Amino acid sequence: MIRQAAFTVEPWSLRETALDLDILAQSESVFALSNGHVGWRANLDEGEPHGLPGSYLNGVYELQPLPYAEAGYGNPESGQTVINVTNGKIIRLFVDDEPFDVRYGELREHERVLDFRAGVLSRRAEWVSPAGQAVRVSSVRLVSLTQRAIAAICYEVEPVDKPARISVQSELLANEQLPPAGADPRAGAVLENPLSSEFHNAEGTTVVLVHKTQASELRIGSGMDHLIDGPDGLQVESRAYTDGGVVTSTVVLEPGQRLRVIKFVAYGWSQMRSMTGIRDQVWAALSSARQLGWDGLLAEQRAFLDDFWDCADVEVDGDTEVQQAVRFGLFHILQAGARGENRPIAAKGLTGPGYGGHAFWDTETFVLPVLTFTAPAAAASALQWRQSTLPAALDRAAQLGLKGAAFPWRTIAGQECSGYWPAGTAAFHINADIADAVVRYFDATGDEAFDRGAGMELLTHTARLWRSLGHHDARGRFRIDGVTGPDEYSAVADNNVYTNLMARQNMAMAAEAAKRYPDRAVELDIDAEESAGWRDAAQAMYIPYDEMLQVHPQADGFTRHQVWDFAGTSPEQYPLLLHFPYFDIYRKQVVKQADLVLAMYLCGESFTAEQKARNFDYYEPLTVRDSSLSACTQAVMAAEVGHLGLAFDYLGEAALMDLHDLEHNTRDGVHIASLAGTWIALVGGFGGLRHWNGSVSFAPRLPEGLTKLAFTLLIRGRRLRVEITHDDATYTLVEGDPLDVRHHGVAVHLPDAKPQVRPIPAADVRPRPSQPPGRAPAHRRASAEMS
Ligand code: BGC
Repeated sequence: MIRQAAFTVEPWSLRETALDLDILAQSESVFALSNGHVGWRANLDEGEPHGLPGSYLNGVYELQPLPYAEAGYGNPESGQTVINVTNGKIIRLFVDDEPFDVRYGELREHERVLDFRAGVLSRRAEWVSPAGQAVRVSSVRLVSLTQRAIAAICYEVEPVDKPARISVQSELLANEQLPPAGADPRAGAVLENPLSSEFHNAEGTTVVLVHKTQASELRIGSGMDHLIDGPDGLQVESRAYTDGGVVTSTVVLEPGQRLRVIKFVAYGWSQMRSMTGIRDQVWAALSSARQLGWDGLLAEQRAFLDDFWDCADVEVDGDTEVQQAVRFGLFHILQAGARGENRPIAAKGLTGPGYGGHAFWDTETFVLPVLTFTAPAAAASALQWRQSTLPAALDRAAQLGLKGAAFPWRTIAGQECSGYWPAGTAAFHINADIADAVVRYFDATGDEAFDRGAGMELLTHTARLWRSLGHHDARGRFRIDGVTGPDEYSAVADNNVYTNLMARQNMAMAAEAAKRYPDRAVELDIDAEESAGWRDAAQAMYIPYDEMLQVHPQADGFTRHQVWDFAGTSPEQYPLLLHFPYFDIYRKQVVKQADLVLAMYLCGESFTAEQKARNFDYYEPLTVRDSSLSACTQAVMAAEVGHLGLAFDYLGEAALMDLHDLEHNTRDGVHIASLAGTWIALVGGFGGLRHWNGSVSFAPRLPEGLTKLAFTLLIRGRRLRVEITHDDATYTLVEGDPLDVRHHGVAVHLPDAKPQVRPIPAADVRPRPSQPPGRAPAHRRASAEMS
């Protein structure tokens, strides 16, 4: 568990000023660097000690058989697991023959800082070797957002008070030994020696290696080159072997003298390219990094991030922790998707092996809505990846006896990797989640090329799935039976309200798209009968309602189930999935994560204001938040129905998920969807942003703990800034053509850059609902209360 004081609270960076080896793995995740293609956990330069070494390439995985006690038709047989690729981060230091290792000698000073604007992780240390030789070490590391294949490190060392013989050994290491995985099913599997060597070469200060994975047959190239600067007498030598290579620089340094090693690391991988093709690609990437140089890489990184923050920043007054957390979250989700280029955004990004490196619905439902408004190209690229996996989704549907595409619950390359079908294959809602992200992306960007192309294909094949998965019953109602909604503590239920509403939208939007692009409809074999069928099913969609309780059951019959024995469940028995059999969880009223409440956020038009308020209050005492995906949705809906204080508490939970390791598994990687959730809670919750079908509306209202909230959104090529205080909201069209938005239901026309100020109407105050005993979110105190 990360203690509260592990990191200092600052607006634009994350800093630790002491090294706590007990939370090394957690800090490796939160300080991780990535560009969506290459991911480096923040392992110490010298490689050891480590919590969990990790270097990842998006899309690189190994296949593993999925074991079953009993065979079953349609069970996926082969799983994909992210692998730790060649580690290019290692820089070992020897001080008069003694290895620099913080577990020995004395670490007099330590600091690591992740700078969200510079996009670098810096480290400073002062260490005294067991023999009494003191050295000062500093390193700055980046994974380039502009040079996709490149990561780089600038490493410097100097003796503090007497001359020292210094060796700096820069290394590439494949098939690194990994600590064993624990019993937590959320952690990833550990694969030993996944890489077979195909090529190794050292020449001058350059080392290049090519490896191949055994079963998935992916070829991976890695290389390093160096610029080394030190006083006279500096000697440099290099060597390579099948699983690695080292470049060693040795010199005697006087106090005041310094050895500086700049290390460029390049990666490339392919399923198709030859060994020589990959090798040459790595050489070429190293050459372009050298050409740009360290300062050039730093300057490009800063410029890329300056552009991003101009379009994406969120300013929070009144809560310094949330201010830091929302920028930390935005930085990580940008890192996860910026240069993915048609690859997935995994639940942990490229920050750790958690969940096997798989992408889930987390991407479309939580991450893409944020990227759509802040870095739309990254959102488009993640959706292009989904489209590229259509062949696998079409095959899967055929295997299941269904039409259209059945997208996998969890995957890296597109095939279903969930061996547990009640909370895997049966969670068909992922198809509607993908369709929803497509519609929202087009709605917010107006990207017609995408809409006509990948977007229309995704909408069509997902709509086809719903038509064949559901049916019209004797009363003409369209039912979708036997599916699992977002709440994984209920499974294989009939007419999950979230699924039915999202499927309804999916089919209606597919019919619209067919009308918009008739030529594409012909290409996709959509005839009039099929479009009409989608419209009919959407119109006739059955949405269960409990007349007696006056609430929506999450699925048919849910509100008749026995309520979970919350009073008899101790705090240590959460998350329930680790302490109770699913069979028992499934038949009780207990909710893992927002399900009906999420439906009220994403399909808000389908509920009246009274229904939203009543439903929210009904589900609060049943929702245990055993998933990190829940708090942000609860924050949004709490704010909408008038529980602003509760919304503020949920915001705090989403914001601190990784910074305080609230789920105790940040060691395996950060929770990308929950990080996006901080933005969602602020912008969707207290900003009240909703957008659908060309309309963009806000219903801003701040909780007591905040004095100001300001954010920038990219909307169809315009830049809109919204600034909210307790009294009013100011809408400024910073850039672009005139725009119409709504403020608490009233139209606001923005013809030019002149700020438009609107008052905030008084809120209805309603009694706060309760949560299951011990599961209430921590009370978030306003900064004024804290001082
Ligand atoms: C949640 C899922 C989520 C997955 C990966 C699970 O605990 O219940 O909704 O997709 O984690 O984040």
